[in-house]
Amino acid sequence: MLVGLDIGGTKIEVKVLSDTGIELFVRRVATPNNYDDFINVVAQLIADTEKEVGAFASIGAGLPGAVSPVTGFIQNANSVFLNGNDVVRDLQKITNKSVSIANDANCFALSEAVDGAAKGSSVVFGAILGTGCGGGLVVNKNVLTGKNAIAGEWGHNPLPYYDPAIDGDIGTCYCGRKNCIEQFISGTGFAAQHNQKNQTKLNSKEIVDLAMNGQIEAKASYDLLVDQMARSFALLTNILDPDAIVLGGGMSNVDSLYSDVKRAMSNYIFAEKPSIHLVKAKFGDSSGVRGAAWLSRR
Ligand SMILES: [Zn+2]
Repeated sequence: MLVGLDIGGTKIEVKVLSDTGIELFVRRVATPNNYDDFINVVAQLIADTEKEVGAFASIGAGLPGAVSPVTGFIQNANSVFLNGNDVVRDLQKITNKSVSIANDANCFALSEAVDGAAKGSSVVFGAILGTGCGGGLVVNKNVLTGKNAIAGEWGHNPLPYYDPAIDGDIGTCYCGRKNCIEQFISGTGFAAQHNQKNQTKLNSKEIVDLAMNGQIEAKASYDLLVDQMARSFALLTNILDPDAIVLGGGMSNVDSLYSDVKRAMSNYIFAEKPSIHLVKAKFGDSSGVRGAAWLSRR
């Protein structure tokens, strides 16, 4: 039995999987807004879960943030009250269970690598293209965290082959750098690019729908997105050459992207007729909590 926690900005979800990945139990509670309440709510959730499914010894947890390898404290979490706290220690103490924590994009990649769209692949890169552009790296079903706990965070590299005349200039990323990949190929970034160019207020899905219906400006934005994604994933491929790249988040629902981006990637990859496995996530929004559960195997 595997127990995963997905710690989000608005809800905390617990999911219990069988050793073969079958979902046995799920429950959600609202995320509190301070640290003490957070610890108590999680402790209660775990106690309630144990009552339902029986005893377990370990928990995996995913959150949008990371455990600092230097301090052991949470950093970069969007539930800001978590930052600067030793969540692993505190949860272990109150639940009396072994706790493993990973970034939610890493959990996503792990879920898809173990029994999702990249099942059977050795080196798997998972990219969540939604509000932001998260990335996680899994090798032989183990999350690669990295020396600075940023392995896979390719979204804050500059867009490869960036050309202001083609790609436009949207200013500074929240991370303080300019022309980050995230500013172009996340759902939010794609919409912002299009809206800035066309003085519109559309979301990414509306733009894609217009493009599919042949609207000229939207089609131009879609074609540019395809090329920007191809450049971004080709950069990754030239360094890592993964067996599979799995997409999640809102943009992963645009089915035409898979063949279009794959075709365009060939222009930028340092190989003749490269073999590219670019696929849609199997478990969608459930992949974060499923990956957290797989994390508890350790
Ligand atoms: Zn950035």
